[in-house]
This record gives sequence, structure tokens and C-alpha cells, in this order.
Amino acid sequence: MSWDYDEYTKPCPCGKGLIKVVNGSNDWGQTSHNETILCPECKEKDELEKADKEERRRVANQKIDMVLDYFKENYMDRLLDKFVNTKSKKTIWKTAYEIGLETYSESSFYKHTKSKTIVIEDYINKNINWRNLKKIATNLQVKDSKFEVLYKDVASHIKEFEDEEKRLAYLRAKGRI
Ligand SMILES: [Zn+2]
Repeated sequence: MSWDYDEYTKPCPCGKGLIKVVNGSNDWGQTSHNETILCPECKEKDELEKADKEERRRVANQKIDMVLDYFKENYMDRLLDKFVNTKSKKTIWKTAYEIGLETYSESSFYKHTKSKTIVIEDYINKNINWRNLKKIATNLQVKDSKFEVLYKDVASHIKEFEDEEKRLAYLRAKGRI
């Protein structure tokens, strides 16, 4: 499998320098795209923006941990209650799937828990995350203004990253990256 590269330059945003672009493609229809900022001013600006973005991501992750900790502290009992009568892996999976805690299909769930004893509290702790939190809270009929505040705060901080993921997923699906 060999790659072919096409290299060219384009003006940088400030107009005083250049950006080197390298586009690659191979026999399998895969492509690559790489840009190097050759202008010192734009390069510095780009590095600062990246550092800012990393900082925003760090803050967003911290806030996610906060809302998850709060939720577990206050609603673990209610979650455990849901599993009171789950004696088999089948009923554990069914309950977890209905609450929104599990995304695996029944057969994948068996595969992943094969020859393992499931400790419900550990299982909940491991599976609860930012993506399924809202669904779980809705299913538990959580009405809690503090939780709402924490949740909305995370949502506003994580939005740019979720939008970016969606954009990348779209481009990937279209085969543009
Ligand atoms: Zn520039």
C-alpha cells in the first residue's frame, strides 16, 4: 500500500506568511491532511488557542466528574433499588438497559461479563457517565434543582467539544478525513 503526497502552500490568516499543506492518498482510498503553519505570528496564535482549548477541556472534564460524583452520592441507593430483584445476568442486563446504564446488546453484555460475578455497585460506578446521565436521571425521575444546575453547567462547557465530535464523525462518514 503506497501513499502519494501532494504538497503546496497557502497564505496564513494574518497574510504575512504561509501555511504548508500536505495531502496524502493511497490505493485504498484513504486520505490524510496535514497543515504546518510557517508564519511565526500565526503559529504562536495557534499554539495559544490550542492551550486555551485544552484548558477548557480540562475544566469541562472536572465539571463532569463533579456532576457524576453528586449523582452517585445522592442517587446510588435509588439505582441499587432498581437491581434488588435481579438474580440473573439476564435481569441485570435488562434492568441496566432499560435505565440507560447499559448500551451493549444482551449478547455483547454476556460476552463482556463472561465468567465474572457482577457487583452491582461497581457495575453502576463503572457504567455511569456523562453521555447516559440524563437518561438515567429521567428514568429515576430525579427532580433536583442542584443536579439540574450542575448538569446545565457541564452541558454549556462541553458543547463545543461535542459539536466538534459530531462534525468529525460526519466528515469521517463522508470519507473526507
Ligand atoms: Zn500569519
